[in-house]
Amino acid sequence: MATQVGELFTGVNNFLTKVIGEGGVQRVWEQVLSEVAGKVGVIQTETWLKPIRPLMLREDTLHLEVPNALFRDWLLENLMPILQESLANIVGRAVHITFHIATKKQGELFPSVVEEKEEKPDAPRSTTKKNGLVLNYTFSTFIVGGGNQFAHAAARAVAESPGKNYNPLFIYGGVGLGKTHLINAIGHEAIVKQGCKSVFYLSSESFTNELISHLRRDRMDDFKSKFRQADVLILDDVQFLSGRERTQEEFFHTFNTLHQSHKQIILTSDKFPNEIDGLEERLRNRFESGLIADIQPPDLETRVAILQKKAQLKRIPLTQEIALFIATHVTANVRELEGGLTKLGALAELTKNPITIDLATQVLQNLLKGEKGKEKEVSIETVQKAVCKYFGIRVGDLTSKKRTQFVAFPRQVAMFLCRKLAGASYPMIGVRFGGKDHTTALYACSAIEKRLKEDDELRSVLTRIEHLVYGGNEE
Ligand code: ADP
Ligand code: MG
Repeated sequence: MATQVGELFTGVNNFLTKVIGEGGVQRVWEQVLSEVAGKVGVIQTETWLKPIRPLMLREDTLHLEVPNALFRDWLLENLMPILQESLANIVGRAVHITFHIATKKQGELFPSVVEEKEEKPDAPRSTTKKNGLVLNYTFSTFIVGGGNQFAHAAARAVAESPGKNYNPLFIYGGVGLGKTHLINAIGHEAIVKQGCKSVFYLSSESFTNELISHLRRDRMDDFKSKFRQADVLILDDVQFLSGRERTQEEFFHTFNTLHQSHKQIILTSDKFPNEIDGLEERLRNRFESGLIADIQPPDLETRVAILQKKAQLKRIPLTQEIALFIATHVTANVRELEGGLTKLGALAELTKNPITIDLATQVLQNLLKGEKGKEKEVSIETVQKAVCKYFGIRVGDLTSKKRTQFVAFPRQVAMFLCRKLAGASYPMIGVRFGGKDHTTALYACSAIEKRLKEDDELRSVLTRIEHLVYGGNEE
C-alpha cells in the first residue's frame, strides 16, 4: 500500500511537472491561495483556506483535503466560484475541485478511495467501553417526549428488572430516532443499579463479524461461551441479520440459552419483526414473543428540549429562540437535528461569531432549501414582490419597522401568503421580514385567517395576489 501511494504521488508530480512545471501541486495551491486571499480577506483566508491541504492534481481535478465536513460544505457554498476561477487562471484551463475529509492516515485516501467517505451513520461517535456500551448514551441524557414515551417506559422497566418481565425487548423505529441511545442506557443502568456483571452491546454487524472470526480460527466454543454467559445481551439493528443464515442460526441458540436462564435480551430494528425479509421464521417468533415498542419522530417541543440538552452537553450557547428556529426546520430525525447544532456550534466558534438566527439560517441553508423544495416552488421573495406589486409599495416597506396601516396590512397579507404558498415557518418569515420575532408572523397569519372567515373582499384580494405569484413565476 505504502509503495502504491508513493508511486502515485510521484506519478502525480510527474504529471504536474509536464503540465505546470516544477513545484507540483503545492506550488499551484500556493498561487491560488495568494490570489484568492487578496479577494476574500485575511479572516476568511485564515479560517477557511489555510487549513486546506492540496493532495494532487490528476486528470483535470485538483484534490484538496479539508479538516471536516463543515469545511467542505462551507467552501462549497461560499468559495467555489472564486477558487475555480483562480485555479483556471493559474493552470490555464478549467480544473475541477474535489474535497476529501481528512482521515487519520493520508495513505487511506489513495489510490482507491477517491470519493470522500462520510462517517458511518450508525457508528457511535462517542467513546465506548469494553463491553461495547457508548459512554454518554444514558437515561439522564435522553429526553422523553412525544414519539418515544412508550419505548422509554419499556426501557426503564427492563433496566429495573432485567430478564423478568419483558424478554426480549424489541424496539423499532426509523433511523436517528434514539434506539441505540436508549438500549445503551439500559445497559448502563443494568450494570450500575442492578449489578449485572456481564452486559454486551453490539451491532448485528459486529455479531456477524465476531462469529466469522471465531469460525475462521476454529474457536466456536469461545464464541458460544462468551455470549451465552451474558446477563444482558443487546443486539442493535437486527435487520442486518437478514439473509445471514449462519449468524441467525448461532443467534437463535444464543437467544434460547439466555432466555431459558432468564437473562435479558434487547433488540432493535428499523422494522417490525415480520417486515424483516430474510429472517427465519423461528427467530421472528422469538423476536415477537416479548415486548415490542416503537419510536416515532419527536414532536416540536421534544425537538427543542433535545437541542437544549445537546447544547448544554456540548457547551454550545443556544437561546430558546434559536433552538425553536432549528427545531422548526429540522424535523426528520434527531441525528440531523444534532448535526445541525454541531455545525452551528463549530461555525460560531471558528468564526468567533455569536449564534444568531442569521448564522443558523446560513448553516441550515441546505436543509432549509430541501424543505422548501419539497413543499412549494414559490419563494418568499416571489410572494413579497407580488404583494408589493398589488398594493403599490416597495419590498423595503415590508421589511421595515413602519407600522402605518398603509404598510402594516400588506405586510400581514404577505406573511400569511409566505406561509401558505412558500410553506415558510413563522421564525423564517420573521427573519425574512426584517428580523422580526416569530410571534409577529404568527400574529399576522392568524389575524388574516380570522378576517378571511367573514371578509369576501379579502378573499378575492388574496386570490388576485396568488395569480400574480404564479404568473410571476411563469414570466
Ligand atoms: P437510532 O439508533 O435510532 O438510529 P441513535 O440512538 O443513534 O438513533 O440517535 C441518534 C442521535 O440522536 C444520538 O446522538 C442520540 O443521542 C440522539 N437522540 C435521539 N433521541 C434522543 C433523545 N430523545 N434525547 C436525546 N438524544 C437523542
Ligand atoms: Mg442505531
